Amino acid sequence: MSIIDDFTAQLAPREVLLPRPDTGSKRPITRPVFTRQAVTIVGVKTAVNRFLPVSHEGEGNESYVDKLYLLGKRRAEFISRKLKGIERRVHMSLFRELAELVNHSEWPAFFKGYFGRECIIPNHLCIACWNCSLFGGLETGKDPVGAFSRVRYFDTYSVEDISECIAMEGSEEGMGIGNQVYEDLKEGRTAATYHLYEYVKAGTTFPFLVIIESPTVLDVAGYLATIRRADGHGYGKYSANHGKFSTTILAVATGYPRFSVLDMLTWAGEGALARRFDERQVRFDSLRGSVALFGGEIEPLEGMLRPEFDAYAQAL
Ligand SMILES: [Zn+2]
Repeated sequence: MSIIDDFTAQLAPREVLLPRPDTGSKRPITRPVFTRQAVTIVGVKTAVNRFLPVSHEGEGNESYVDKLYLLGKRRAEFISRKLKGIERRVHMSLFRELAELVNHSEWPAFFKGYFGRECIIPNHLCIACWNCSLFGGLETGKDPVGAFSRVRYFDTYSVEDISECIAMEGSEEGMGIGNQVYEDLKEGRTAATYHLYEYVKAGTTFPFLVIIESPTVLDVAGYLATIRRADGHGYGKYSANHGKFSTTILAVATGYPRFSVLDMLTWAGEGALARRFDERQVRFDSLRGSVALFGGEIEPLEGMLRPEFDAYAQAL
């Protein structure tokens, strides 16, 4: 058996993604089937242009990057809620495109046919499709239906100190100057529509890890493809023009990591993050014995998306 076969042998069968008749709700839905298995995906995101991780209101027409003092440095903060929000939407757009490829028609027909309705983020989730199975959801109303998310995200932080990585008042670059018209077409172009913003500079790095519980091959291959798309789509405020990333996947492993984002920041501070993974000096815990893929071993997984999606659509 190849290492990829060893890896996929520990994952959940694709049948767990199929909608099932549900007591309580009047239609088939996909509640997670917890298999006690997990896959951990570890990587580093590098900003390729200005990035505005902003989770709070600024003052007047100014916006400020989220910051935190951690492990001896002041760092830019990239909160998990923002990562998940973008990636869920990007995963859905990927899903719709795959559905159209398989069905040779527009995605709503695929969704209505297999899940009983279109699935719209965030307020009209179907709780039956692959996206809802992975990210969870809640349908409120007379008969509420909910499903837990199977993806665990963690907040992450810049490796670099904000004195190096943020353009702000007092820094060499100063704050960015933008025109809100680009993102907010309601107002005309006047002085009042200009705004000043802090931004994380290109080249800033954020180590991250994500855990998918009860993962299928489709979940893992789909998540890897989602990262690629989200990097081009953009994260953060004004993501039409900003917040593009390049991601290096360091490891994809069955089981849970025996290290945290904080350990990764420490290793990065020592200039040893990539080497840790190149030399396989990281551990994952799985009762069945973790199978960890590094570097080029991960690539075959990305190629499994189309065939796995086709098999999923067949099984629906
Ligand atoms: Zn859905």
